[in-house]
Amino acid sequence: MPRVKKIPQRICVGCRQTRGKKELIRIVRTPDYKVIIDHTGKMSGRGAYLCRRAECLRAALDGKQLVRALHLELSQEVIADLEKEISGE
Ligand SMILES: [Zn+2]
Repeated sequence: MPRVKKIPQRICVGCRQTRGKKELIRIVRTPDYKVIIDHTGKMSGRGAYLCRRAECLRAALDGKQLVRALHLELSQEVIADLEKEISGE
């Protein structure tokens, strides 16, 4: 049997779908209580994953899933960054 490389799977906090880690945006709460987008996927801290879809960001914000996952309110700045990230600007 050929060896299949395991792709790390994560769940989007917006739609609760399991996806490959690389397809998702990682959002991290750093140890000094800042919420940032982790482009490397390697930052330490409490993390949450989100699809690159505006619907998932909306759902995660409206349903407070992001706040619950990170234990911290998201600033307007971070939300704007996420919107930019998703729209690919
Ligand atoms: Zn999603």
